[in-house]
Amino acid sequence: MRPELEARLLLCRNLASPPAVALRIIELAQDPNADLAATARVIALDPALSARMLRVANSPLYAGRRKVENLPQALTLLGLNATLSLALGFSLMQDLRGGNGTAAEQERIWRRSVLAALAARRLGERCGLGRLEELMLAGLLQDIGALALLQASPEAYTALAAGAADAAARLRLERESFGADHAEVGAWLARHWHLPAYLAEAIAGSESEPGADPFQACIVASSAIAELWLAADDPDGIRLAAARARVEAATGDAAALDGILARIEEALPEIGTLFDVRLQQPQHLEALLEQARELLLLRNLRQIQEATRARQEAELSEERIRHLAEQSRRDPLTGVYNRLQLEEVLEREFATAVALRQPLSVAFIDLDDFKQINDRYGHLVGDQVLRNFAQALRRLLRSTDLVARYGGEEFLVVLSQSDEHTATRVLQRILKETAHEPMARVDGQPLYVTFSAGVATHDEAGRRFPDAHSLLQAADEALYGAKREGRNRVTQHGQ
Ligand code: GH3
Ligand code: MG
Ligand code: MG
Repeated sequence: MRPELEARLLLCRNLASPPAVALRIIELAQDPNADLAATARVIALDPALSARMLRVANSPLYAGRRKVENLPQALTLLGLNATLSLALGFSLMQDLRGGNGTAAEQERIWRRSVLAALAARRLGERCGLGRLEELMLAGLLQDIGALALLQASPEAYTALAAGAADAAARLRLERESFGADHAEVGAWLARHWHLPAYLAEAIAGSESEPGADPFQACIVASSAIAELWLAADDPDGIRLAAARARVEAATGDAAALDGILARIEEALPEIGTLFDVRLQQPQHLEALLEQARELLLLRNLRQIQEATRARQEAELSEERIRHLAEQSRRDPLTGVYNRLQLEEVLEREFATAVALRQPLSVAFIDLDDFKQINDRYGHLVGDQVLRNFAQALRRLLRSTDLVARYGGEEFLVVLSQSDEHTATRVLQRILKETAHEPMARVDGQPLYVTFSAGVATHDEAGRRFPDAHSLLQAADEALYGAKREGRNRVTQHGQ
């Protein structure tokens, strides 16, 4: 760049050095030890910047479900890199915008910058690039050279911009008048301000043919998109074709432009508020946007549907697993718990009873002369009796009591928080009630059964057992006592 131009630019107060806050942020961006706390202290020095950071954290670009109430929260949500990029963009552009120059031209450049920033972000998302804030910042700053030229030579640059039919003409005129185009001037300014190197490079290449670097390709495409969006008209579709070509270079898909335009439109109101700029939808893109909007709507809808389906499937398989797990604990014939589950529950109940010093009773139940039922009526009738008997047990016990099939025609009942007396009374009541309840019908005739039961109780205040197994054995012994004494009765252990 010519020394005269450099000197002229440096004469402008706000070009000689970046604003104080931006300066500190630039330092932080280059400091490997920088953290969010230090960044928050710098940002807090500038109330307008703080307010913007809060707003950006609550904008749909970032917002989570929770409203961000204060600066530290906002910065935590954004993270260090995003915070530094956004804060730098806000503070630099605020300062440049306040300088002299023609208001209308300044607004035009400003609108272009904000649109390019949003486009760069959308392109980055489309390419899966990450670095979205850096893309946004590079998009935003790519035209700082134009703002600088406008400030250094307001009349000349305004006239030049008015006389340029398109972006290529403007670049040519810039070179003719100033010996450098705005991309060169912007890159020079970025270096002079010690902005991170990637920014100077991105600005320098913003008006050139994109190379292999995807970041740079996004910046170049963002410029073409902004150009297309802000054009008063595009009768020959030249700008549209240029934007498609640039988008293809960046994303590998020329048709991606439509979706990106719709995604830009989506964020337009928000980004306008964030950057204090009025961005309108271009009339000449109305038809294209219309279609793209529909596609976007469909895609969003599909995403919602897919998310819903995925959730439902996850719930379903959870349900299936729960069901399988439940099944593995149940006896297939009777539906009550099986022996495996019984042993697990009994261990747990025993430990709880000991810990809480509560009584725990178990009852072994064995159907009387069950073999005769099988022999007389067949196994199917026997099975039906077992099923109905198990259901009767469940119905006649508290829901907190456990019923398990121990094997054959033997069942075990665990009665938590029940002393010996209570447990025996419960079993006697069940014996009485089941004796009057037909457990099957054979040729229309009701079939009744009786049972024998042995009750054993662990009671801290009475008989204590060392473990669940001994308690079970005691109930089994009591059951044999009941059988010996003639069946159809309930016997307590030790009686
Ligand atoms: P007791 O009064 O002494 O208990 O006599 P019991 O006939 O009930 O006792 P025993 O142990 O001699 O016979 C139990 C019978 O239960 C023998 C077996 O065939 C039958 N059994 C075991 N499991 C099943 C089953 O799943 N279905 C059917 N139908 N019968 C079964
Ligand atoms: Mg038996
Ligand atoms: Mg039996």
